[in-house]
Amino acid sequence: MQEFLTIERAEIKKRSAAERTKDFKEIYELLSKDDIQEQASRCIQCGDPFCHNKCPLHNFIPFWLKAIGARADIRTAFALSNESNPFPEITGRVCPQDRLCEGDCSLNDGHGAITIGAIETAISENGFRNGLKPLFATKKTDKSVAVVGSGPASISAATYLLRAGVRVVMYEKQNRAGGLLTYGIPGFKIEKEIVARRVNWLIEAGLELKTGVEVGRHISFSDLVNSHNAIFLGIGAELPNRANISNENANGTIMAVDFLRNIQKKQFKEELDADIDVSNKNVVVVGGGDTAMDCLRSSIREHAKSVTCLYRRDKFNMPGSKKEFKNALDEGVNFVYNAAPHDIIVNSEGNVIGLNMQKTIMGDKNALGRQSVEIVKGSDFKIDADIVIFALGFTPNIPTFLAENGIDVNSRGVIATDNAYRTSKAGVYAGGDCMRGAALVVTAAADGKMAAAQILKDLSL
Ligand SMILES: Cc1cc2nc3c(=O)[nH]c(=O)nc-3n(C[C@H](O)[C@H](O)[C@H](O)COP(=O)(O)OP(=O)(O)OC[C@H]3O[C@@H](n4cnc5c(N)ncnc54)[C@H](O)[C@@H]3O)c2cc1C
Ligand code: SF4
Repeated sequence: MQEFLTIERAEIKKRSAAERTKDFKEIYELLSKDDIQEQASRCIQCGDPFCHNKCPLHNFIPFWLKAIGARADIRTAFALSNESNPFPEITGRVCPQDRLCEGDCSLNDGHGAITIGAIETAISENGFRNGLKPLFATKKTDKSVAVVGSGPASISAATYLLRAGVRVVMYEKQNRAGGLLTYGIPGFKIEKEIVARRVNWLIEAGLELKTGVEVGRHISFSDLVNSHNAIFLGIGAELPNRANISNENANGTIMAVDFLRNIQKKQFKEELDADIDVSNKNVVVVGGGDTAMDCLRSSIREHAKSVTCLYRRDKFNMPGSKKEFKNALDEGVNFVYNAAPHDIIVNSEGNVIGLNMQKTIMGDKNALGRQSVEIVKGSDFKIDADIVIFALGFTPNIPTFLAENGIDVNSRGVIATDNAYRTSKAGVYAGGDCMRGAALVVTAAADGKMAAAQILKDLSL
């Protein structure tokens, strides 16, 4: 119980910056079987585990740490981990653990938190290597549910519905399933085979996946209503926030997810929507969150001449994960803090050549504790750029079929639900970014899981 006094928290090994920027493969190594056991044995099994409370899925963290740490029992650890989490090998890779489970680990106060995320990934990966697989129902019910979208919220809802023997038909407008796990988050954070493997298990368990089908375009929402007992909406938040500055649509500007999706499509050898070539160009990314870090690090891998992050607040107010910021820094990104873009400078052909900028200082805190930003008068300066990528957050793109079917949107522009994931139309549920606004993979997973539980309850299953 006091192993934490003699065993230090292991920082997960990663490939060197010089090596990893040559490709889009994951940068972190998997913990070995021995390392997982040693690191898990540091857990003190505190009576009221804050890590469990802070995890949006309320994973049974101390239980699977004990199974591994005390008994090297991969089978039990795998079963526990895969019960409360629809895809532990994915959240272990992409969760910002410093803000979630590890941030609230009792040992985080001086001894170094348990490496929960890396252990979570390694338990599943070791289990898979030993032939373990997630379990699904063998007995089927006569109920069917349509799931719109195939991101983490939808994969999670489908998982828990399939486990209860429900028929699930999933509609996805893109060519492949996974939502932002496939076409947003770059391969250096999660390789695409990992996402496809999970989806394939759902297909093996009976999921009917219809890709390249947009609900509201290729199939009407009322067709879904007529052919299923319930519908889950997991359509994400796809609309990028705009900078609202002049020339923001000039040649050489692009929105973050369009940029990242095209890079991924190029790797899949799929038809591109709007390719933008950053090789040998000066790239500027406006924004300081995780999406901005992904664009910056992707630009380096796409051989940009220089890569600069412009952030209007200071370094301490950057909203993203600390580990992703550090990775970006190590890979050669330049950071300019307290810098707000005023307008984009274009040449006579309408191509981007730079940005007019203004310096900022941090002002008073608002009710949520976030400091305001104030422009410093007369502080104008210029930055050269050939490409400007905007990474300023997202809001849901509300399709017209919602209003046509009596599904309300609230004042925040997201699908309105009660606290049981029910929309204003009976039998229709929603979760993930389309319901809470742009958030995280794990919050989408938690929504999908709880919405599925409510659907099962309402269908008396
Ligand atoms: C670049 C980037 C990096 C990120 N990195 C991280 C990270 O490291 N860690 C983390 O936890 N979170 C990260 N996030 C956030 C995370 O990806 C999202 O919060 C999460 O994917 C939301 O899941 P979702 O299922 O609600 O929606 P999405 O993943 O957006 O999936 C929605 C799906 O619905 C489909 N769809 C939409 N409308 C229709 C329709 N009418 N018919 C059929 N299909 C439709 C879309 O094509 C899409 O596939 C990142 C986000 C971005 C943009
Ligand atoms: S799902 Fe995320 S928050 Fe929960 S235990 Fe895993 S890494 Fe931590």
